[in-house]
Amino acid sequence: MGSPLVWQVAAVVAAVMAFEAVLPASSFPSSFPSGAPPFPNPWAAFQNLSGCHMGEQRQGLAGLKDYLSHFGYLPPPPSSSPFSDAFDQDLEAAIATYQRNFGLNATGALDESTVAQMVAPRCGVADVINGTSTMGRRSSSADAHGRHLYAYFPGGPMWPPFRRDLKYAITATSATSIDRATLSDVFARAFSRWAAAANLQFEETASASDADITIGFYAGAHGDGEPFDGPLGTLAHAFSPTDGRFHLDAAEAWVAGSDVSRSSTPGAVDLESVAVHEIGHLLGLGHSSVPDAIMYPTIRTGTRKVELEADDVQGIQSLYGSNPNFTPTSPATSSREMDSGVAPGFRPDSVFVGVVVAAVGLLLAL
Ligand SMILES: [Zn+2]
Ligand SMILES: [Zn+2]
Repeated sequence: MGSPLVWQVAAVVAAVMAFEAVLPASSFPSSFPSGAPPFPNPWAAFQNLSGCHMGEQRQGLAGLKDYLSHFGYLPPPPSSSPFSDAFDQDLEAAIATYQRNFGLNATGALDESTVAQMVAPRCGVADVINGTSTMGRRSSSADAHGRHLYAYFPGGPMWPPFRRDLKYAITATSATSIDRATLSDVFARAFSRWAAAANLQFEETASASDADITIGFYAGAHGDGEPFDGPLGTLAHAFSPTDGRFHLDAAEAWVAGSDVSRSSTPGAVDLESVAVHEIGHLLGLGHSSVPDAIMYPTIRTGTRKVELEADDVQGIQSLYGSNPNFTPTSPATSSREMDSGVAPGFRPDSVFVGVVVAAVGLLLAL
């Protein structure tokens, strides 16, 4: 679909890796005062489309179609015929699917809450791969009320049984000003969230050649067909097993090792929160429709969301089994977190929707 990388994966195996944090509509207003984003947001123009519906012709709809195509809701346009500004039936159906995935009224029209959700920063991994919504497909689990819960990437890629001790390397840091020691602490805590719940262990290694997972900060195009877009918009993306690539947009106002809720920087994004989400993709989880889940595609600026929700725990344990020491009633908090200077326990109310679509077999996203 949309971006080359993501869709390459879709074509081959279907892995979408863009990590874009999609903010829940309810949280949006506080993060983005209507009409006046704190600084450039690549999707801010969508706000001018609020109220648009089937049958209309509105400048900017072509751009919205590109967005929906990137995340899998529309097939990519033929090269000979780019998207038009016409609000046609295909767009209406795509918007309705998007609305269902994010718990909005599935009207197919661009109401205010839908537009607010769409401009929220999010994971770059697609929500729909090869026409199948990873956020609501039949193979996903659902509760008694029919809500869509956790999902896997098409084909269910995962790390094989003999790979339960995974090594990760922080390989590209020249594009970020965050010091190396802080990065090591942040990613260690993020991995520990998943290790506390599932039968998996993680260890940092200094050698990229020795690593199963590589983590790096990149600005703009960085060789995988999924260029980053500057502040906000897409925040990060990661590939499904066993690719192991995890990329972060170096242009974001990342906050690491301190309380993001106290940051005065416009558009501040909590690095650890995004890392926990993207690691879910690296392990095989796709995006969840549960707003409180780590794997929800969007996240609010200025908020922290690092604790696995029941939906995340069920998803990862279904793939790898439970950590023998896991206790469902206690948050998956590591001792490292408790020892760190980061305020433990403050729970982000924002919804961080991390949708990581892993490509089956091959991971190209990002
Ligand atoms: Zn994601
Ligand atoms: Zn990338």
